[in-house]
Amino acid sequence: MRILLVEDEYDLGAALERSLKREKYVVDWVKDGAEAWQFLENGWNQYTVAIFDWLLPGLSGIELCQRLRAKQNPLPVLMLTARDRMEDRVMGLDAGADDYLIKPFGMAELLARLRALQRRSLQIQPPQLQVGNLLLDYATSAVSISTHTGELQNIPLTAKEFQLLEYFMQHPNQILSRDQIIGRIWRAEADFNSNVVAAQMRLLRRKLTEYGYDQLIETVYGMGYKLNTHET
Ligand code: CA
Repeated sequence: MRILLVEDEYDLGAALERSLKREKYVVDWVKDGAEAWQFLENGWNQYTVAIFDWLLPGLSGIELCQRLRAKQNPLPVLMLTARDRMEDRVMGLDAGADDYLIKPFGMAELLARLRALQRRSLQIQPPQLQVGNLLLDYATSAVSISTHTGELQNIPLTAKEFQLLEYFMQHPNQILSRDQIIGRIWRAEADFNSNVVAAQMRLLRRKLTEYGYDQLIETVYGMGYKLNTHET
């Protein structure tokens, strides 16, 4: 279960991330509303639930909710707020939040609310992401590809390769820089060596080449990498 946590207060964000990870959630912690929107716009369906703080730099939690709902996006949202005036709660719910918690709150309560939202989420998540001839299945964490002969074949991927390909599929035809890739895939790893990105990209492309797609992921010199849908 993957959670998008948007909280700019460092201590609270770090404590939430720790607790959620202890409960075996995968957590993407973002500290800015505008950055959170980039995650949501291209990859909301990887998340089971989103947690938004109300007041954020970039875009507020309310604005994030409104943008999601304007796109008919059903991702369950838990809003965190220090405000406890009645009209603020109403405003949060009107904006499309599913539930809210007033700071300070106990971790046990947060986890209970998350479990409730998660049960709803499981009923609405689209199980697959399709980009060009690639098909990613969230239930099985597998990616298949239509070969040039029209056959659908499963691509055996390591966990890291899966995360990489998922990231590219969420941002088709967009250049992803090495730093963006590191931030997304190796965010939490302390002993990270920066040569790893190039090495992983090589392995992933070698696999795609086996299925006849040697140009599917392109190196954009000096800028990063790009998944080309016209190639698929
Ligand atoms: Ca805040």
